[in-house]
Amino acid sequence: MIELPPCPLLIVVSGPSGVGKSTLCDRLVKERPRTVYSISCTTRPPRAGEVDGREYHFLSEDEFARRVDAGEFAEHAVVHGARYGTLAETLRSEAVRGHDVVMDIDVQGAAQLRSRMAAPDARSVWPGAYLDVFIAPPTWDELADRLRGRATDGDDVIARRLDRARAELDRWSEYQYLIVNREREDSYRQLDAVLTAESLRVREGDRP
Ligand code: 5GP
Repeated sequence: MIELPPCPLLIVVSGPSGVGKSTLCDRLVKERPRTVYSISCTTRPPRAGEVDGREYHFLSEDEFARRVDAGEFAEHAVVHGARYGTLAETLRSEAVRGHDVVMDIDVQGAAQLRSRMAAPDARSVWPGAYLDVFIAPPTWDELADRLRGRATDGDDVIARRLDRARAELDRWSEYQYLIVNREREDSYRQLDAVLTAESLRVREGDRP
């Protein structure tokens, strides 16, 4: 029999807000064995119902900056005016447990991780396979309608939201995989198939 060491997957999922990526990622974590979320750090305040250490590690600006200076982040970025980042230690500890890790992060963070994973010391960031997936809306109008959201939001808030979504969408071609989220069930099946294929890939180092 051929016995290969387990190859944990690091799965980066990006896409504009409102595109439905959290629903897809939540389902991956729920239905795929040994698949967990990476819990990010952020300087934004917790929303109602969010618990420190569950949705995010909520850090002060000073604490976040201290950890950036200490080189503790695998990636970090400013999103909607707040800082967000993934601690290298979070990834390391999940890899040791043999978990596949799903990261719902923005396009800037994904670009940082992608270049770190292409560097010679990639295994110090993540010892397994890396893949990134962009989730796009079927049409711009559909996304824009969703982002226009509540009537109570001011025009400037809505304009900023739309600008940011447009900027994120413009970067879809940097990703290895593109899923157009037309129908939730189809999109989930496609995402699950990508992960299955990646977990079966014969990689450098696997060969005798
Ligand atoms: P929210 O504050 O609504 O939970 O997340 C806002 C945005 O921040 C989402 O688009 C999400 O993808 C992004 N985000 C969450 N965690 C991280 C992270 O650790 N790094 C980066 N670069 N972006 C993140």
